[in-house]
Amino acid sequence: MIVANWKCNGSRKMIQDWSKHYEDTYIPFDRTFVGVAPPYIYVEQLTNSKNAHGLDIKIGVQDIDISSGARTSAISVDMIQDMGCQFTIIGHSERRNIFDESNMSISAKLDSVGSKIATILCVGETEKENNNKDTKNVLEEQLSIIKGKIMPSSFCIAYEPIWSIGTGNTPTPNEINDIHKFIKDVVQSSSENSIVPNVLYGGSVNDANAESFFKEDNVDGALIGGASLQGKSFANIVNIFNGKTI
Ligand code: PEP
Repeated sequence: MIVANWKCNGSRKMIQDWSKHYEDTYIPFDRTFVGVAPPYIYVEQLTNSKNAHGLDIKIGVQDIDISSGARTSAISVDMIQDMGCQFTIIGHSERRNIFDESNMSISAKLDSVGSKIATILCVGETEKENNNKDTKNVLEEQLSIIKGKIMPSSFCIAYEPIWSIGTGNTPTPNEINDIHKFIKDVVQSSSENSIVPNVLYGGSVNDANAESFFKEDNVDGALIGGASLQGKSFANIVNIFNGKTI
């Protein structure tokens, strides 16, 4: 599973170029979920472009609100489903830090999505927490929102160390593998139905380092920010995941 998080980037022109470059670079392989989360406002244009270029991608969003109704500026899961979206990211560290999202509101979002579409829950520690060897405690706290919930099989986690996002610094593949195993164990023991989720790694993944992460047993894919903004580099990463050469 490889997912692009475009964050607050993109334009109509960018989508045209991105689609063409993705189409030119992608080597067909039908067993991988490839998702792209543009800003809400570009969902329809990316959908049209995907159809025009025959791109094998699923379109999703970067966040969701908990319900429809009197919630000015919000977007609900029913609306994005209506637009054909198949997944949402929630709990991204930029939502937690810039928009002050609490575990409690992320938990409500998780409940509002339910099994309507797939959810990718982001978790990750700060640099200080990492230096203090507090990573597992932080992750346990962030994952506590799953306790006692029946989780759909489409639910997955993105492990995104905050100090790695957009910095070019990453944990070693071995460290990532160890943390992913820990996350799987925590979710399995705390969810009511004992699911073992797919766990994606996110943080400075690019087409030069992706293979080193994908080789690890507990790395089920990647959530990609910066390198997903170019159709060519994103398709290269997808091809690497699929075991094709570039
Ligand atoms: C992200 O913010 O989800 C992310 C992984 O960003 P980047 O790939 O740019 O580090």
